[in-house]
Amino acid sequence: MNAEQTEKLRKLIDKEIEELKLTIERVKDTVQPVVPDDAIGRLTRMEAINAKSVSEATLRSYQARLNKLKSALHNIDEPDFGICAGCEEPIPFKRLMVMPESRMCVSCIENR
Ligand SMILES: [Zn+2]
Repeated sequence: MNAEQTEKLRKLIDKEIEELKLTIERVKDTVQPVVPDDAIGRLTRMEAINAKSVSEATLRSYQARLNKLKSALHNIDEPDFGICAGCEEPIPFKRLMVMPESRMCVSCIENR
């Protein structure tokens, strides 16, 4: 990556981290203890419990991505940033713009 690409990617990761933090806050609001039956309205208690576990899974995956993005941001100035961990070829910039946290090129992931 050249310096211009690094800056572009840095801004993108920054933006995604901010957005993800907001999303996590919103999901957290839905992961509250299951409320007593009379407060649920049309939802049955089972449905409420179900919805809660879905939100928790979603929350975990968002938090995992947030951590990956943070470490990408941390490592962006390292010489091996953007180098595939499999074949050690540069990961295409286009791919990094879509998935800045990727550590491998598409073909290495497919061949894993
Ligand atoms: Zn590769």
